[in-house]
Amino acid sequence: MKNLPPNGKRWPVAILGATGAVGQTFIRLLENHPWFEVTEVAASERSAGKRYDAATRWLEGRMPSRVAGLMVLPADPARVTAPIVFSALDSSVAGDVERAFAVAGRWVLSNARNFRMEADVPLVIPEVNADHLQLIERQRQERGWSGAIVTNANCAATVAAVALAPLHERFSIDTLFITTMQAVSGAGYPGVASLDILGNVIPYIADEEPKLEREMRKLLGRYEDGEVHDAEMRVSAQTNRVAVEHGHTVCLTALFRERPTAAQAVETLHAWRGAQSAWDLPSRPEHTLIVTDEADRPQPRRDVNAGNGMTVTVGRVREDPILHIRLVALGHNTIRGAAGGSVLNAELLASTGQLDTA
Ligand code: NAP
Repeated sequence: MKNLPPNGKRWPVAILGATGAVGQTFIRLLENHPWFEVTEVAASERSAGKRYDAATRWLEGRMPSRVAGLMVLPADPARVTAPIVFSALDSSVAGDVERAFAVAGRWVLSNARNFRMEADVPLVIPEVNADHLQLIERQRQERGWSGAIVTNANCAATVAAVALAPLHERFSIDTLFITTMQAVSGAGYPGVASLDILGNVIPYIADEEPKLEREMRKLLGRYEDGEVHDAEMRVSAQTNRVAVEHGHTVCLTALFRERPTAAQAVETLHAWRGAQSAWDLPSRPEHTLIVTDEADRPQPRRDVNAGNGMTVTVGRVREDPILHIRLVALGHNTIRGAAGGSVLNAELLASTGQLDTA
């Protein structure tokens, strides 16, 4: 059941930005996907016209042979024909390119920041806020697009939102402090120079703190009457780049409108299953959230691949002497925080029949 495409056929999909770190993760995740088949890859003019294996510095494991021989196309809807496009484009170009694909009637599942905060664009984590997809109708009406853009969140915001959604649903967050330790793969390829990061911590990631603060409020916000009402919470974020390959670690301290004990917080996290509409999606892990009671976990080296990179691991849940509860969350930035999140969003659209309009 979990493996059959809802309409009996696999959808052809294209990857925009296929040569980059997130683009490659899409290719790996979609290699044997039961519902989607990568038929086209696109990137910049630097890569267009070359075979994919010649244009790409492949980062992990073995490049799937089926994509190796594909010709890289320019990221142009006149050249890419797939009805569904996963975008791993650099944000300097994503705005114009994604808009052009939506105007041309395509479903765009985007990792870039450009459209995330637009009032008519869903910013979705299926287990957390699947109902925000209802914004698509408004988006199409207001913009006159026959296609649509659906975004997934910043990688650190995704980890924090999954960890906090159960607690926010039950106890309502009033004030939140976030401190991140973010992996180098979050900066793309080639990313941060090795001499800048080895044996080092960089306490600055361009534009990351305001993004995190804004996106948390939208992700945990409530859909009602055609709009998402941001969660009413104060958020303060500090972000750091650390010498870790994959996995963003996020330290969270929160004040709630109703104060939970640590035991209630743990019990709430354990019991949470997320939105039912996400339960049978092929890429959803058995557990979206795992709570560990080991004193020194989660750790990127040991926990980043939980649920094939789609599970967020939470630990060190305890009472806070100033606010109410503090905890540590960890998730895979290029899988749950990027390509895997987009694929899950596409599966949610497919399971509700929406992709059949493509
Ligand atoms: P990356 O490794 O730098 O890859 C960027 C991709 O964009 C490459 O395929 C590149 O193609 C393409 N590109 C650049 N300029 C272009 C142009 N003018 N026209 C068409 N394509 C162009 O970056 P990344 O880490 O994969 O990130 C991709 C997107 O996902 C970004 O918007 C990023 O903010 C977002 N994101 C990343 C993460 C993460 O953990 N890395 C997490 C969440 C979201 P060429 O190879 O031809 O230059």
